[in-house]
Amino acid sequence: MAFIRVTPIQVGDVVRLRKPHPCGGYDWTVVRVGADVGLKCHTCGRRVLLTRREFERRLEKVVSATQPTG
Ligand SMILES: [Zn+2]
Repeated sequence: MAFIRVTPIQVGDVVRLRKPHPCGGYDWTVVRVGADVGLKCHTCGRRVLLTRREFERRLEKVVSATQPTG
C-alpha cells in the first residue's frame, strides 16, 4: 500500500512558505488540517485554504510545532 508522506502538522503550528504573501508575510498559522489545509497570514490576517498537496509544495519549513496535548 502506498502511503503519501506528509509533513506532520496540526492546528496552531506556525509554518513558513517558499513564497511570501502579497502583503509581504512569510509566516502562517495553521487553522485547519484535513484534506485541505487552512492557513492564516501573520502579517495581514488573511486566511487561505490550500489542498494538502499544494501546501506540501509551498511549505518551506515548520517554524514552531504545537506540543501534542494529553
Ligand atoms: Zn498576508
